[in-house]
Amino acid sequence: MKGKYIVIEGADGTGKSTQLALLAEHLASKNIEYVEFSEPDGTPISNEIRAIIKNGSLEREAETNLLLFTAARHEIWKHVALPALEQDKCVIASRNYYSTLVYQGYAEGLSLKSIETITREFTGDRYVNPDISMILSLPEHSTRMKRINHRGTLKNVDTFENKGVEFQDKLHSGYLSLAKSKNIPVIDANQSIDAVFLEILSKIHT
Ligand code: ADP
Ligand code: MG
Repeated sequence: MKGKYIVIEGADGTGKSTQLALLAEHLASKNIEYVEFSEPDGTPISNEIRAIIKNGSLEREAETNLLLFTAARHEIWKHVALPALEQDKCVIASRNYYSTLVYQGYAEGLSLKSIETITREFTGDRYVNPDISMILSLPEHSTRMKRINHRGTLKNVDTFENKGVEFQDKLHSGYLSLAKSKNIPVIDANQSIDAVFLEILSKIHT
């Protein structure tokens, strides 16, 4: 796992943060050095950009979200992920530009090709093709909402989580289309936390 870039993807509430924490613990127990982040958090400026993105009271175009996410990713990739990979550390991340293909592409209608082109230009080949990636999937909208609400309340109305059932369902089917087109394994997140983690480990070790 040394020097690998590992991405856990999935819609809100599917369990990414929970599983990322377990993976971090697992690596630490094996004395494998790692850095972890949850996009678009990762550097001080990225965290500020995230606050803007997440603030649903700030109206903007889907293209603006693409540019904001790309700016955050540029900083994280250059200042956190790449230096770690160069030192043969493992990089584990919740989300990647795959989220933008789903949210701004499949769900909001931006061209998948331009999302990929712009992202690649401001990150690199390695970022757009992680060594290992997987998608956590929860088909039932009610289960996703239960988990989202369980995480606690947000200060501002969230940009994406408050868009309603139709949008959330577009995200779900967008993730399945993405999985197909990029050959990314899908993990059923409607299992116990431990069962999901065992599947994640099996993807990492194959
Ligand atoms: P994400 O980061 O994908 O939004 P989280 O990891 O924050 O999701 O999980 C959302 C909520 O669901 C948390 O309260 C978490 O404890 C709970 N949760 C995560 N995985 C499971 C699971 N497999 N079964 C039941 N609850 C879960
Ligand atoms: Mg999370």
